[in-house]
Amino acid sequence: MTVHFPFQNSYSALPDSFFARVAPTPVAAPRLIKLNRPLAVQLGLDPDLLETAEGAAILAGKTVPDGADPIAMAYAGHQFGQFVPQLGDGRAILLGEVIDKDGVRRDIQLKGSGPTPFSRRGDGRAALGPVLREYIVSEAMYALGIPTTRSLAAVVTGEHVIRETALPGAVLTRIASSHIRVGTFQFFAVRRDTEAIRRLADHVIARHYPELRDAERPYHELLAGVVARQAELIARWLLVGFIHGVMNTDNSSISGETIDYGPCAFMDAYNPAQVFSSIDEMGRYAYANQPRIALWNLTRLAECLLPLFSDEQEKAVAEAQDILGAFSEIFSTAYQAGLRKKVGLFTGREGDDALIQDLLEAMAKNQADFTLTFRKLGDSAVDDSADARAQFMEPAAFDEWSGRWRARIALEPQSAAERQAAMHAVNPAFIPRNHRVEAVIQAAVNDDDYAPFEELVQVLAKPFEDQPEFAAYADPPLPDQRVLRTFCGT
Ligand code: AMP
Ligand code: MG
Repeated sequence: MTVHFPFQNSYSALPDSFFARVAPTPVAAPRLIKLNRPLAVQLGLDPDLLETAEGAAILAGKTVPDGADPIAMAYAGHQFGQFVPQLGDGRAILLGEVIDKDGVRRDIQLKGSGPTPFSRRGDGRAALGPVLREYIVSEAMYALGIPTTRSLAAVVTGEHVIRETALPGAVLTRIASSHIRVGTFQFFAVRRDTEAIRRLADHVIARHYPELRDAERPYHELLAGVVARQAELIARWLLVGFIHGVMNTDNSSISGETIDYGPCAFMDAYNPAQVFSSIDEMGRYAYANQPRIALWNLTRLAECLLPLFSDEQEKAVAEAQDILGAFSEIFSTAYQAGLRKKVGLFTGREGDDALIQDLLEAMAKNQADFTLTFRKLGDSAVDDSADARAQFMEPAAFDEWSGRWRARIALEPQSAAERQAAMHAVNPAFIPRNHRVEAVIQAAVNDDDYAPFEELVQVLAKPFEDQPEFAAYADPPLPDQRVLRTFCGT
């Protein structure tokens, strides 16, 4: 039996300027270290066959499956605010698209599968550590219910990649509803290729916003759609303490999924200024800056779409500004509604936002763990559990706040048990804590031991369940376990 991929490719049918045709570069000794079996089934693939040597060869880019039309996608992008007119898939190759069990078109992409015409000085490869990080964090985001690309498989290549030292090479199979980015539009805008922008916009509408096809002003609505999805996405990030780390326009998806997990991390203690990425010296992509940056990225997208809005530049700009103006409201509404749920409020009342803001301020001042404070607050709804209080350096800061909170929740008819259940359904017990992710990577890279990786992935698949046997995974790092810096996958 050979592995069958039911490809139905559409992107590779677009004009030649959209991509470069290029096959993955074969590797020495592919070995499958993880297959996401439920995701394989969702994609219409046979997980048993993918686990054979032939499956591993495909997932490592050694064999190209029938029906694949391998391409590297062209894109540009602003990296830390600096425009680069040509980036493109320098170490990723899109094998093709399949329609999944829900009828959704999904890209199957190999990341780390060898050089492409967009590689510039890079080797087209990925090291094992960043591949495992992306696998763990993207699947954790999925389990948290946050729109994201997913990870189908990780293979080691049997070859080394040279970074600061020689590291084991690996390939991640990434699944996305598409890999079209703000930077994809920028690639054509900087070349003043309005026809290509229109082709791309039509492709995106058909694929991600089909309800807009017959709209009176489909391109305006497209921008509005991306604005709304990005605003909601960033709110979801903030509500779980996620820091993307490299929100460049080329890492900003048109479909509204989280994409390109590099030096990303979840924060432990609540700190709005938190940065992890070693390359983000100015704090451009700090936790609390993420909404502002998303709007900045969307403004770059709007600039690309202006020629489709109107021939009159001024009119087009005014219309774009109007659409971008909705971002703040959509973000705030989603964020505040999410926060209300996190503190167990079923309704909204005047004063709620201030009450919540005071909690966040007390948490920041007291280095309270973001995840545990909210999770344990759910238990405080049923009894006088001191676990939330214990997150605060100065527990009195919590006591003052919790008195006001108790008075507020007493105004709602729901029972304590109902409130706890509702809170536990939105406040995870388990997030991919950075020290855990690092420990898993060390075991894999140094000792070829994947048991810690398997266990972490298993725990993170059910983030809202208590899982008492894995309670230690909920713990924040001890002072000497804290990871202060994360590094890019390059
Ligand atoms: P990233 O930081 O992963 O979003 O990548 C930014 C750009 O650099 C993209 O165009 C990547 O394709 C390219 N790139 C990153 N790492 C490599 C590599 N090892 N080889 C070739 N291109 C790379
Ligand atoms: Mg990228």
